[in-house]
Amino acid sequence: MAHSRKSASSLQEDGNEQLVKRCPVCQTELRSGHVEVLVAQSERQFIHATCPTCAHALLFFQITASGGTGLMGMVTDLSAADIRQLVGKGPISEDDVLGFHTFLRRTRLETAITRAIRG
Ligand SMILES: [Zn+2]
Repeated sequence: MAHSRKSASSLQEDGNEQLVKRCPVCQTELRSGHVEVLVAQSERQFIHATCPTCAHALLFFQITASGGTGLMGMVTDLSAADIRQLVGKGPISEDDVLGFHTFLRRTRLETAITRAIRG
């Protein structure tokens, strides 16, 4: 019955097969408890995983098209909660940059940061 146990471990809670099966850093098997699907749409998925062995946080982006499925992964320092806050937000605007600059000026952080960089 080893075969049925293996296929059960590769299934996610929603019954779909888990595409992210191993940590790309240390090759540890990632079970469903280590993997969190943040965005699940029919043609794209955004997946966060935390390796139980090396503790690296991993981010995967999966796209399904008529030609097949592509999976891109990267190591991140973001938690699943961090990413959930960012998903759905638009790109940083010029107003955002200007607002941050004004904030730095007002709080005099700009001077402190410039001094820290220049030594
Ligand atoms: Zn690992």
